[in-house]
Amino acid sequence: MLPVIYSDEFLEHKTGYSHPEKPERLTAIVNALQSAPFASQIQWRSPTPIIQRPVQSFVEAVHDQGYIHKVKQVAETGGGYLDADTPVSPHSYDVALLAVSAWLDGVDIVRETGKPIFVLARPPGHHAESNTGMGFCLFSNAAIAAFYALQQSGINRVAILDWDVHHGNGTQAIVETNPQIAYCSLHQFPCYPGTGKATETGLYNNVLNLPVTPGSDGSIYQSLFAQQVVPFLSNFQPDLLIISTGYDANATDPLASINLQPQDYGLFTNYCLKITDKILFGLEGGYELNALAESVLVTIGSCLQSG
Ligand SMILES: [Zn+2]
Repeated sequence: MLPVIYSDEFLEHKTGYSHPEKPERLTAIVNALQSAPFASQIQWRSPTPIIQRPVQSFVEAVHDQGYIHKVKQVAETGGGYLDADTPVSPHSYDVALLAVSAWLDGVDIVRETGKPIFVLARPPGHHAESNTGMGFCLFSNAAIAAFYALQQSGINRVAILDWDVHHGNGTQAIVETNPQIAYCSLHQFPCYPGTGKATETGLYNNVLNLPVTPGSDGSIYQSLFAQQVVPFLSNFQPDLLIISTGYDANATDPLASINLQPQDYGLFTNYCLKITDKILFGLEGGYELNALAESVLVTIGSCLQSG
């Protein structure tokens, strides 16, 4: 069995006509999982409602209060934009808190079971910085989950792997000063948001950035996993591995120019399972719906196959 945390409430973050980060992304994934050969092995779980836990206090661990208040206010006053491509709709604040809650549930469940879990939530988070939202992202789900995890007994080191095609500028900026967190990103470079040079190594050599040139394919990624990602993450000996699972490096994705196939994510997943079974997969980007859904299937299928 593999738990997937999902709620229809995640569809209530509305981004507007023709925005690539749309609710249909989740619907496509849910439909694909429900008709997958391994559908009976998926344990659907709802996130803990935000009235049942102090989610905001965990958000405050990494975001400025003023910024959190701003997101709430924009939502409550009918919606608006945090930057040119980051809309906030009337329900977005509550939905973003629920997404955080889902990632925190993911931490709790991995701790209990010692096994992988997939958090199927939106909005994504890895571009959100402590004092600003950007790039479709409101709150830094992965960083918040990492800080939360470090408060739990038995978790002293958390690694974050970010295989979204874009560099997770927000995640890196929030965690790079914490020696208990390691961050590794593979991303197209040059590309949005422009950060993630190999020379950015964190305050404690706890950051590994692997920029990839446009046009690269799965063979490039495979050698990076074998030669850099796995050694870096294994050496850190994480008690929990959080993966910012964006699927916008697929060849058909409209937002980038990397040529991965959905099956490549199965290889990445297997590399990660060599490091630890304690993996929280949390959705970031991925905008071509067929490749997105297929890639999630491949990721979860690889976890189930490994037992
Ligand atoms: Zn992305």
